[in-house]
Amino acid sequence: MNEPKQTQAQETPTIELFDELPLHDSLRKGVREMGYVQPTPIQARTIPEAVRGRDIIGSAQTGSGKTAAFLLPILERLMQHPRGRIYALVLTPTRELALQVEGFLKLLGRHTHLRGLAVYGGVGMEDQRRRLHGGAEIIVATPGRLLDHMRRGAVDFRSLEVLVLDEADRMLDMGFLPDVRTILHQLPKTRQTMLFSATMPPEIIRLSQEFLTHPHLVRMQERSATAAGITHSAYLVEASRKTDVLCELLGREGMDSVLVFARTKHRADRLARQLEMRKIKAAVIHGDKSQAHRVRALEGFRNGRHRVLVATDIAARGIDVEGISCVINYDNPNDGDTYIHRVGRTARAQRQGMAISLVSREEADDFDRIEQHLGIKITREDLLSAYPPSFPSSPPSARRYPPSQSRGRPVSHRPRQGYRF
Ligand code: AMP
Repeated sequence: MNEPKQTQAQETPTIELFDELPLHDSLRKGVREMGYVQPTPIQARTIPEAVRGRDIIGSAQTGSGKTAAFLLPILERLMQHPRGRIYALVLTPTRELALQVEGFLKLLGRHTHLRGLAVYGGVGMEDQRRRLHGGAEIIVATPGRLLDHMRRGAVDFRSLEVLVLDEADRMLDMGFLPDVRTILHQLPKTRQTMLFSATMPPEIIRLSQEFLTHPHLVRMQERSATAAGITHSAYLVEASRKTDVLCELLGREGMDSVLVFARTKHRADRLARQLEMRKIKAAVIHGDKSQAHRVRALEGFRNGRHRVLVATDIAARGIDVEGISCVINYDNPNDGDTYIHRVGRTARAQRQGMAISLVSREEADDFDRIEQHLGIKITREDLLSAYPPSFPSSPPSARRYPPSQSRGRPVSHRPRQGYRF
């Protein structure tokens, strides 16, 4: 594969404290108030170079601290800039991520005069249009909605100095690359560009070759799916018994905040209903849910009102919830990169987390390929005979859920008797 021209900086960072980074006192104050003491590796490697104005390619997972790695240099650069013009643009694949980055911006920049604005689809354009006129210096946007505004002449990028492409590989997956290119071609050529991506497929390498100049490469392997903080396991189960196994898992110790991935919107909705019927409070987010619903669901998950959040891949991009104890693949992802993205939601900021996959017979080959992609061996437990197939056509009310005393205990191989369907 053709890597972009770059200089590498893979040395172990010697910076151990935020105070050692070349940042303004008011930014250090914001950082301290967020409780950050030590920069994460990507922050230690990115911030000094980015503050010097270098282009950056950050090959880093979500959860590595990449958001502050690009926001702090932006804020530092703009410390003396007057309000009223747009100096920086961050492009993100989803509205959730845009809102999250805007949220970080508010916190990190709370002792500066700089203002951020999230611009995303699914909500009215008028308010955004008004605020785009002089209401913010840093825009965090999803490509489609931003292009709408640009086409209507509602946004002036003539003063733009910094561009960030966040989760570039996700933008590619979601088909946004043509929009991203259109936007990039309309921005001032002289600017600093930072690109962050968990994986580096050829299209992203081409994009960086086209739009970045002598980028400084920061490659963070340590936050891969094989990170020490994540324990991976898998259960081989009949497709028709996945919900039973899931419920049993949810009854175990430590399952306080669990993100469950389903393959489709329909399956996510159905699963949330099944959990509800079993008195497990679950919120659901996917692409068909309104923005208000998504915000409410995420909020409920964040504050613990729902212990379980059922999500599809696209809706889950950029979810940043502290302390997710476990990510469960109710349906398996099709490829290794999606697996990495999903499990990257747990064990964030160097904490511990679990990743559990429910693998049906039909998914077993895909799962083997994911394992090969990750280069790790994942412990599997065979529950095929412990949970014999049910008849999918039987109405849920006619099914018997495993006896309540079994909840909270580990799933065992012991064949379960007495199920009636
Ligand atoms: P990100 O990869 O930017 O989505 O960040 C993942 C999580 O790590 C967020 O919850 C951040 O608040 C947290 N975080 C980022 N930087 C630090 C740091 N230096 N120290 C502790 N937590 C951090």
